[in-house]
Amino acid sequence: MIKMQSMQTVLKQYFGFSSFRPYQKDVIEKIIEGNDSLIVMATGSGKSLCYQVPPLVVGKTGVVVSPLISLMQDQVMSLKQRGIRAEFMGSSQTDSTVQNRAESGQFDILYMTPEKACLIPASFWSKLLSVGICLFAVDEAHCISEWGHDFRVEYKKLDKLRGILVDVPFIALTATATEKVRTDIVNSLKMQNPYVTIGSFDRPNLFYGVKSFNRGQSFVHELVQEVSKFVRRDGSTIVYCTTIKDVEQVFKSLKELGIKAGIYHGQMDSKARAESHRLFIRDELDVMVATIAFGMGIDKPNIRQVIHYGCPKSLESYYQESGRCGRDGVASVCWLYYTRSDFAKSDFYVGELQTESQRRAVVESLMAAQQYCLLTTCRRKFLLGHFGEKVLADKCGICDNCISSKRERDMSREAFLLMACIQSCGSKWGLNMPVDILRGSRAKKIIDPQYDKLPLHGLGKDYSSNWWKALGYQLISSGYLMETVNDIYRTVSVSPKGYQFLSSAGPDHQAPLVLPVTSEMVD
Ligand code: ADP
Ligand code: ZN
Repeated sequence: MIKMQSMQTVLKQYFGFSSFRPYQKDVIEKIIEGNDSLIVMATGSGKSLCYQVPPLVVGKTGVVVSPLISLMQDQVMSLKQRGIRAEFMGSSQTDSTVQNRAESGQFDILYMTPEKACLIPASFWSKLLSVGICLFAVDEAHCISEWGHDFRVEYKKLDKLRGILVDVPFIALTATATEKVRTDIVNSLKMQNPYVTIGSFDRPNLFYGVKSFNRGQSFVHELVQEVSKFVRRDGSTIVYCTTIKDVEQVFKSLKELGIKAGIYHGQMDSKARAESHRLFIRDELDVMVATIAFGMGIDKPNIRQVIHYGCPKSLESYYQESGRCGRDGVASVCWLYYTRSDFAKSDFYVGELQTESQRRAVVESLMAAQQYCLLTTCRRKFLLGHFGEKVLADKCGICDNCISSKRERDMSREAFLLMACIQSCGSKWGLNMPVDILRGSRAKKIIDPQYDKLPLHGLGKDYSSNWWKALGYQLISSGYLMETVNDIYRTVSVSPKGYQFLSSAGPDHQAPLVLPVTSEMVD
């Protein structure tokens, strides 16, 4: 009971809050009792308090590993303002005073980069152990896992500290983790029987939507018009681009429209980046155009929309980036604009990865993100399902697919033709080859392997090649076709579900395959 009292006092005295959020209280108690703990909670749910309160309750230092200096600076500053003795140690600076003070137990909370945590000599840890260390927290813990969207080698090395800080509770925190990532975190940090808290990932105030586009000047124009429509007085917008070139182009176009836009990417020097960041946080910009370098630790409550221009590399990163809007609970929107060429481009990136396991993890992530783009059912249900959360309702009512009244029709015949054609040409191509065969092409690439002799050749003349490809992507997203990435190109084949459909009868006899008529099915 005494402990509770002081937890409450700490909360009020240092943080000015009168009550803990339900899970915070449990986690903090477990940590104080010495348990390892894994906390998986949405951004903005108050995870930091879980490692900030115990040191103040027990009067020992809490060490927190965090990936970004800027993030630590912000945290340290805000903790100091609350009268908490906090400091950080980066890998570059020679902060021997900070180290000396830490060794004599002068900090409540000591942040450090993972590099620092790995490099600092064992004598540091033994001194800290003798003056008192009450927890070792690893923030953004998904960086430990190759299955996460932000793998960092240094994070992986943190396990060696387990052998040094034997009885110190290890706390891992992240906002995004699938089951694979969770298991990886627990194993990598050698956590012992950790207390696991997994919150709902749902952000009920966020609208999710996806639009496809064709890359080019006209699209930037369209995007910019769209962005400018949304620019409101009550909040700001982030536009995430996949390349610095896109960032610059979108930024320029917004400026031309007289919109107060800022720019942020990894090739700017740190001073320029910090300035951009500052202007955005202070509401002096309406739109920030950035690569994903702009991200961790943006604790801005009134971001009203996050637009992704280009398909992200994983749903984990997408959910985290888009989740930066609406932190204040006010309705906000997350739009994703993708173009088919994004999918192929990311395959190159896969080809450059070193190990097979890295490649597998990345391909799986890319496929999930791609599936999200092509989805014709509830986006929220899909996203939450990806994070292992079961959603009973089929429609959330606040995503584009739930609110649009899409036309549907029986596409059994067309689906049959496409799947049969993919099978007939050996399942060794992407969608272009079978579509060209169906459309009766007499190109050399068709004549040479004698694909023009296939009985299906020319049976699909009635539809454009875009129409067929759109159908192909729908069949992929509904599981009738499978897409495989081989080094840098993709092949499409018929899945077991597709075989079942094909074999159930001739083209006119199986149960109808009813699919939505998407905006891409244009002739
Ligand atoms: P996370 O690390 O999960 O993204 P933060 O720790 O940054 O979230 O907290 C998000 C916001 O919630 C912060 O503004 C924080 O002050 C606030 N907060 C955290 N715990 C409480 C609480 N018990 N009562 C009220 N506000 C809280
Ligand atoms: Zn929905």
